[in-house]
Amino acid sequence: MPEADLTARAAPAARADAARADAARADAARSEALLAWGAAHRRDLPWRHTRDPWRVLVSEVMLQQTQVDRVLPRYLDWVDAYPTPAAQAAAPLADVLRRWQGLGYPRRARNLHTTATLVVERHGGEVPGGLDALLALPGIGPYTARAVLAFAHERDVGVVDTNVGRVLARWAGHPLRPAEAQAIAQSLVPAGRAWDWNQALFDLGALACAKRAPRCDSCPVAPWCSWRGGAGAEPDPATGSAAVSRPQARFAGSHRQARGRLLQALADGPVPSGSVAAADRRAAESLRADGLIELRGGRWVLGADPVP
Ligand code: SF4
Repeated sequence: MPEADLTARAAPAARADAARADAARADAARSEALLAWGAAHRRDLPWRHTRDPWRVLVSEVMLQQTQVDRVLPRYLDWVDAYPTPAAQAAAPLADVLRRWQGLGYPRRARNLHTTATLVVERHGGEVPGGLDALLALPGIGPYTARAVLAFAHERDVGVVDTNVGRVLARWAGHPLRPAEAQAIAQSLVPAGRAWDWNQALFDLGALACAKRAPRCDSCPVAPWCSWRGGAGAEPDPATGSAAVSRPQARFAGSHRQARGRLLQALADGPVPSGSVAAADRRAAESLRADGLIELRGGRWVLGADPVP
C-alpha cells in the first residue's frame, strides 16, 4: 500500500487518540479543581463524621425525600435511640413511626424497621457491603445502596442523587438517561477518592450549581461545563434529566397531608374509626395498605401498637 494511503488511514485513529487524551486531561483538571473546592467548602454534617454503615444508611434514607435542614435535628436523635440495626429491629414499629413524625413519607420508617430486622436475620446485624445484598433490602434503591458503599466503605462508586444529576446534565449540556448518568458518575470518580469526590459534587449542587440561579461566575468547574447557563439561560439541561426531582404537588389539601394528619393523631393514641372525617378515610385505608396502621376493635392504631 502506498505510504500516502497508510498515512490517510492512520490519521483518524490518531485524531481519536488525541481527542481521548484531551478528554482525559480535562476530566483530571476538573477533578482536581472540584476536589480542592470541595475541601474548602465542605458542609459540616453529622453523618459525614462517621463511616458506620448503619448510621450512613439512616442518614441516606432520611435524606431521600427530606431536606438537609429538616433532617439535621432528627438524625442524631435517631441514631442515639437506635445505634445499631439490632436496636432498631427490637423497637416496636409504633415507636419507630412516632419518632419519624415530621420527616414525611413514613413508608421510609417502616422500610428502615424491616431492613433492620432483615439485617439482623440475614447478615448477623451488620449492614452488608455488597451492592446486590443492599438492593435486596426494602427501601434501598440504586442511589442509597451506592451511597452506603461510597460513604461507609469508601468504595470507588459514583452516586447520583438529585443534586448530582443536575450537575452532570449541565456538564454534559443535555438531559441524561438514568443509565447514562450513572455511567458518567462512575467514570468520573478519581481512584481512591470516592468519599471526597461525591461529597464535593453534593456540595457543588447545593451551594453553587443550585436548581435556580446557579452561581456560574464563581463556579470552580465552569471551564469544563457545557451549559454555564447562569440565571435565566434556557433550556436548562437538568430539566427532565435522570435523578433530577420534579416539582412536587401542592401539600396543602393533599392526600399526603391527610395521611400525615391521621398519623399525627394516632401517635397520641387510638382513634375510633367513626370519628375519622370522611375526607381522611382514603388516607386511613392507604396507611393500612402500607402496613403503617391497623384497625382493631373499631379503632385505628399505629402499626402493632398495643390497644390500651
Ligand atoms: S458553571 Fe454553572 S451550570 Fe456549570 S456546573 Fe458550574 S454552577 Fe453549574
